[in-house]
Amino acid sequence: GVTDDLARAEALIRTIPDYPEPGVQFRDITPLLADAAALSTVIDALIDPFAGEFDVVAGIEARGFLLAGAVATRADVGLVPIRKAGKLPRPAASVAYSLEYGSATIEVHDDIAPGTRVLLVDDVLATGGTLRAAHELMPRIGGSVVGTAVLLELLALGGRALVPDVRTVFTV
Ligand code: AMP
Repeated sequence: GVTDDLARAEALIRTIPDYPEPGVQFRDITPLLADAAALSTVIDALIDPFAGEFDVVAGIEARGFLLAGAVATRADVGLVPIRKAGKLPRPAASVAYSLEYGSATIEVHDDIAPGTRVLLVDDVLATGGTLRAAHELMPRIGGSVVGTAVLLELLALGGRALVPDVRTVFTV
């Protein structure tokens, strides 16, 4: 059943201690992505709470892209890439946000019609700063965020406080 499929997929997320720096437990989803059944299961789980409610999926660079592309084709909607500053040739909007050390900026093109219903997708919810910024970005291009879908939530970091609507497939 779907519960067994999800448990099997979750077991394929690999934890790498002290990457990219000491003290960080890096959650590596590449073994899950490499497994056809696990990938299919999690794509369905990301879409499920929002089925029929969104017109486009917005994926966040870089690992969010991997999931967003699959979500888009399965849900039969388009895809909007949210990129780190300086990667898009004609950014229409940008939002800067603070990280634990320093800051970051995300940008997006203006390729959707006003009122387009957007599902935000990313791989991991950590502090929530990135998804919070993505929420701010979408209205700047006329998008209306109807939901946020994340594969794995790191509960200890409390990111949900910044992204109250988030639906997560797995938690750790
Ligand atoms: P944040 O803005 O703090 O929620 O972090 C967002 C991004 O950082 C996510 O899209 C993840 O790709 C990445 N990230 C943060 N912490 C981890 C972690 N422990 N393992 C894997 N990815 C992480």
